[in-house]
Amino acid sequence: MLFETKSPKETFKLAKNIASKLVGGEIIILEGELGAGKTTFTKGIAKALGIDEEVTSPTFVLMKEYEGRLKLYHFDLYRIENQDELEELGFSDYMYDKNGVCIIEWNKFKDFPVAPLYVKIDRIDDNSRSFNIK
Ligand code: ADP
Ligand code: MG
Repeated sequence: MLFETKSPKETFKLAKNIASKLVGGEIIILEGELGAGKTTFTKGIAKALGIDEEVTSPTFVLMKEYEGRLKLYHFDLYRIENQDELEELGFSDYMYDKNGVCIIEWNKFKDFPVAPLYVKIDRIDDNSRSFNIK
């Protein structure tokens, strides 16, 4: 499905719609260049899950965990070289939490316990983004 948002606020609205359908166990892979809006979208999901804590980019810690209606595991794997490194960290385990949702920026996982939802974000102009969700 293809969506277009014309502001970060509209991206929050789109994220809210998607968040309302989450029941736990989902894996969402966010694709798109730096500045596309992957973290902004994640903030929208977090807000809709009732997470009050501020969501910040987990670039240096690789994963941050938040508590809401469901748990949110927010990954940014930009700094991971390969999947072996991920396995050593035991990060796959989070994908098996049926009360949690994994959102992954710069995905490096190859195997998933369930089919991930892919959200491809493209910058159209300063304030517009397209979201291709599969
Ligand atoms: P990424 O995580 O993909 O690198 P960020 O979410 O950190 O991207 O940054 C996206 C930037 O683009 C933010 O500064 C945000 O305010 C801005 N932006 C402008 N328009 C939009 C939009 N429609 N949706 C999401 N972000 C937008
Ligand atoms: Mg980001």
